[in-house]
Amino acid sequence: MAKARRGRKPVRRARDPDAGGGTREHWRADGAPKSQYGSADEANRYALQVRLEDGVDLDPYTCSICGHWHLGNRRD
Ligand SMILES: [Zn+2]
Repeated sequence: MAKARRGRKPVRRARDPDAGGGTREHWRADGAPKSQYGSADEANRYALQVRLEDGVDLDPYTCSICGHWHLGNRRD
């Protein structure tokens, strides 16, 4: 069996500690694809709406998998 690599955990300030391979930018933690936005404007508008309604600060970013915009949780 593979050895557990305990000392090799990356200590970067990743958006998600489980992020690996870059697929998390397109899929949510539950495996469903994230909502797509066609432009930064659209993504920003939705991010603002969520912040006002839910108090959640979301970070728009371009996805390298689908090329659209998604919103991610900012955790800092
Ligand atoms: Zn995507």
